[in-house]
Amino acid sequence: MSELDFDVIVLGAGPAGEVAAGVLAAGNLDVAVVEKELVGGECAFYACMPSKALLRPAQALAEARRVPGAAQAVTGKLDPRAVLDRRDEVVHELDDSSQLPWLHDKGIKLFRGAAVVTGEREVSIGGDILRARRAVVVATGSTASLPPIEGLTTAEPWTNRQVTVAKKVPRRLAILGGGVVGVEMAQAYATLGSKVTLLEPEERILGREEPFVSQQVADALSEAGAEVRTGVFAESVVRKGGKVTIALKGGDKVVADELLVAAGRKPNTVGLGIEQFGLDEGKPLETDDLLRVKGHDWLYAIGDVNGRVLLTHMGKHQARIACAAILDESAKGLRRIGDGPQSPRVVFTEPQVAAVGHTEASAREAGINVRIAETETSGNAGGSFYGHDAPGTSRFVIDEDRDVIVGATFTGVDVQDFLHAATIAVVGEVPCSDLIYCVPSFPTRSEVWLNLLDEMTCH
Ligand SMILES: Cc1cc2nc3c(=O)[nH]c(=O)nc-3n(C[C@H](O)[C@H](O)[C@H](O)COP(=O)(O)OP(=O)(O)OC[C@H]3O[C@@H](n4cnc5c(N)ncnc54)[C@H](O)[C@@H]3O)c2cc1C
Repeated sequence: MSELDFDVIVLGAGPAGEVAAGVLAAGNLDVAVVEKELVGGECAFYACMPSKALLRPAQALAEARRVPGAAQAVTGKLDPRAVLDRRDEVVHELDDSSQLPWLHDKGIKLFRGAAVVTGEREVSIGGDILRARRAVVVATGSTASLPPIEGLTTAEPWTNRQVTVAKKVPRRLAILGGGVVGVEMAQAYATLGSKVTLLEPEERILGREEPFVSQQVADALSEAGAEVRTGVFAESVVRKGGKVTIALKGGDKVVADELLVAAGRKPNTVGLGIEQFGLDEGKPLETDDLLRVKGHDWLYAIGDVNGRVLLTHMGKHQARIACAAILDESAKGLRRIGDGPQSPRVVFTEPQVAAVGHTEASAREAGINVRIAETETSGNAGGSFYGHDAPGTSRFVIDEDRDVIVGATFTGVDVQDFLHAATIAVVGEVPCSDLIYCVPSFPTRSEVWLNLLDEMTCH
């Protein structure tokens, strides 16, 4: 057993933990990272990266088929084996050795194993005791949560772990949950050849986004051959003879070869030792705006584990805020953190959904005096190069009283990179009357801003 001292100990080497360790090491602190599985975390191996690798080939193919001239060259079909092989390449066959050199180069010490907080500023890992002079940063992420449905746990359901790294495409795939993970995997597997049935208890999929988002993504899933069933409740699940049967409230049954549960996440706080500080195991670690766990100024929580917003880029943003506070304990100059449900977000289906800030409904609920501007995403010269049949909608939610955009949603082919300009406008609260001076180039699809500004009549 050894006892070692560091300035900061980071628990978990997912994207949030990695960024925190890197920023602190760049600030000349002596940093240890503890990781119990793979350096890179859920995101690199079982979430963001493999899911996008599964979606992208069918989208690239569809793009070529939409564009005359390229379409004529496309004579074959999607090759599912090659898609899975490419996915394996993206997740490095679940080997994290390529992630290690940067830790080494920055002088960050990696400990492998499950970390337990054993006292204030003290962490045990295997037989070693690590002590932190300044802070302990918890970045242990989250795990799929299984809803309390009879028989579910014994029916060997898939979670994001199995669906993202599956070696075979199941003939029939049922999915519980029409949130982001559910719809992305529904589209990926439908294009790979599975007969997909998506079961969503609410009245619409992607229910937190604008209603047109739910409609357009549902239509696209149906077109890809998936069955989308909303307002349905799974009551029990049985696996027998290699197939899984989901009994729905009302008597209907869905039979599949695999069942993916995409019904939310739970924070990885069990077994961490936090209950000695009066914190609840299994619950998110509640933080203040500097990501300090409330009541414990030496303990920080960043990324999924604090439950603020479950997105990689926001976990990385939180890491930077927490590091600024750790490096400069007076934390001068830090603004409010600016995360939560209105953070920038992308659903990587086709059509893609890119949104930031309020939807119309959430803005009205917040008491904002709302005006809406809406146009077709590809209704401009740039859009014409994306070929035939690339529809989509772009909507701004405007605060009439303050003359600023408080929300933006884009749907359409490849709209992901539209989002950052909107994020700057929303987060920076750029007055609408200034936006007319931000001129998009011709012929780019960014001219969608011109149509929206015309709609807004803010000049
Ligand atoms: C299918 C899917 C697709 C997604 N796609 C996207 C996307 O496209 N874009 C996006 O922004 N977000 C996406 N997300 C969300 C994203 O994956 C998470 O927000 C992100 O991984 C959170 O990062 P994190 O560092 O907080 O935690 P994680 O990535 O979960 O990493 C936490 C790490 O901590 C380790 N750990 C846990 N407990 C301990 C312990 N006691 N001791 C030591 N180590 C421990 C874990 O092994 C893990 O490596 C997706 C999620 C899913 C499920």
